[in-house]
Amino acid sequence: MSLIFGNPGIPILARGKGTVEGINTVRKLGLDAMELQFGHSVNISEELAKEVNHAAKENNVRLSAHGQYTVNLAALEKSKLDASIDKMIHAAKILNSCGGWSITWHMAFYLGRPKEAVHDLVKQHTKTIVKTLQNENIKVWIRPETTGKETQWGDLKECVKLSQEVEQVLPCIDFAHLHARYNGKNNSAQEWTDMLSFVEKELGRTALDNMHIQVCGINYGEKGEKNHLNLEESDLKWKELMSVWKDFKLNGVVITESPNIEGDALLLQKHWKAFKH
Ligand SMILES: [Zn+2]
Repeated sequence: MSLIFGNPGIPILARGKGTVEGINTVRKLGLDAMELQFGHSVNISEELAKEVNHAAKENNVRLSAHGQYTVNLAALEKSKLDASIDKMIHAAKILNSCGGWSITWHMAFYLGRPKEAVHDLVKQHTKTIVKTLQNENIKVWIRPETTGKETQWGDLKECVKLSQEVEQVLPCIDFAHLHARYNGKNNSAQEWTDMLSFVEKELGRTALDNMHIQVCGINYGEKGEKNHLNLEESDLKWKELMSVWKDFKLNGVVITESPNIEGDALLLQKHWKAFKH
């Protein structure tokens, strides 16, 4: 095992040609993973999912998904909460039909409330989601993603805590978000070592051996994340970050969320392969 690298959505090289051709192109590029983009909607039917599953198996491309941006497991209105739960279950089911392994969301917004109270809501409703999936024997990892703004639930501690509290849950660590969330912190080997040591202490090797990582260049300010950038145009010390990944012998999938889609996935993969493992 090792880390494998992939792009978010269909590569630029196959733009407009659909998910199946996207997967074929990922293989042609020499990448090993692709993240289905369900952020705006789950754009794959159960029917198409069968073809996607087949293409992923044929090409040995590991599939993950980014869930809907509109969910909020701490929504104030019951109708919005119910809709969020339904959307998340639907997205997880479709990913499962595609043969995917892991799906991530920005789980909730604080909306001015205490962090603990919001966490309790996220926990309660994530349990409902996982229970529903388990009843249908759906085993994809449910991933709370570390988020890029202090107004969003999803600091590293919260994501780790949720992973301890609910089965079938592990964090998706978005290193760009954690850099932007704190206006430029988390950009050194020491900080990343502390982070991954914390994850290992709280969740054990299971977490480090099943990583779902997101990374890209990022523009930020006092309120956190502004927009994504290509790695080479950003201040993120990505080479140092990768050395820390290597030190911890991480296994799993890295999705680069840069505007150049496959460009930065290839850049990181090349750098990773040049290490002596
Ligand atoms: Zn995200």
